[in-house]
Amino acid sequence: MLTMLFNKHLMANMKRILWSLPLLPLVLAGCTATSTAEPDDSLKIVTSTQVWADIAQAVAPDATIEAIISGGDVDPHSFEPSAVDMAQVSEADIIIVGGGGYDSWLYDSLGEDDRIIHALELTDHDHEDHETHEAHEGHEDHEEHADVDNEHVWYSTEEVSEVAEDFAEKVRELDPEITVTPEVVTAKMDELHETIHALPAVKIAQTEPIADHILAHSDAVESTPAGYRATTLSEGEPTAADIAAFQDAINNGDIDVLIYNPQSASPVSTRLKELAEEKGVPVVEIYETPQNTENFLDAFTKAVDNLAAATKQV
Ligand SMILES: [Zn+2]
Ligand SMILES: [Zn+2]
Repeated sequence: MLTMLFNKHLMANMKRILWSLPLLPLVLAGCTATSTAEPDDSLKIVTSTQVWADIAQAVAPDATIEAIISGGDVDPHSFEPSAVDMAQVSEADIIIVGGGGYDSWLYDSLGEDDRIIHALELTDHDHEDHETHEAHEGHEDHEEHADVDNEHVWYSTEEVSEVAEDFAEKVRELDPEITVTPEVVTAKMDELHETIHALPAVKIAQTEPIADHILAHSDAVESTPAGYRATTLSEGEPTAADIAAFQDAINNGDIDVLIYNPQSASPVSTRLKELAEEKGVPVVEIYETPQNTENFLDAFTKAVDNLAAATKQV
């Protein structure tokens, strides 16, 4: 099973490497065109970010899945799609997005569209009313924290499992011949969910609220100073007072572990990270989207494992 999983990831990664080389896709496309005479009626699956593409690929290993944002150097928060991107979206049979405004650049113009699979409500990019799905069956015990208002929903094990299952169902509906293995994703998410629930009650602060969906399922206490947190939640610039409060919290030992998102690094967040390191506060890096050829499921696992390891140093 592990080898299978590894191979799938390897294949997904290989594809990504190939796609990143400008000439190869043309060569590859040429090959497929000559080897199959019939028109291409295979399912077209498009996702907003590489995160959802990696999840979908684990569910449907043989399907061709395209992420509009596939590189780690593009910030999905401020992304604007090209006409080519939107043409790809219009031709898709299945579209996967996170929702909650995060990738509204993709779904804003589509209106009610049953091709879309999403984790959060398909709201505008207004940072309000980000409702998660109702806690689903078997997870009633989490009802009290199922309603996390944060668009980084791919770090919610339950939402990822739900998207994986919704996607598998849709693929079965559209093309029953494609093998779907949602259990690859849900088993991994269940495993991570257990590790997350075992995190101890330590004080964790974040330079960007990337890990709310992880922390909500743990005993860890979200300890980012309130002003700083409110500003970064709405993607604003923290004030001098917000920054000073954060520095004080680190200096005074009010923060046990710092979560740092290198992808949305700013001079402010970098300085906070350096201060934490000086003070011996463990720093855990959690990325917005996977780096280079890393698979999201591996990146999520690494983030949770690193978090668990950091809390043991406290
Ligand atoms: Zn939970
Ligand atoms: Zn973010």
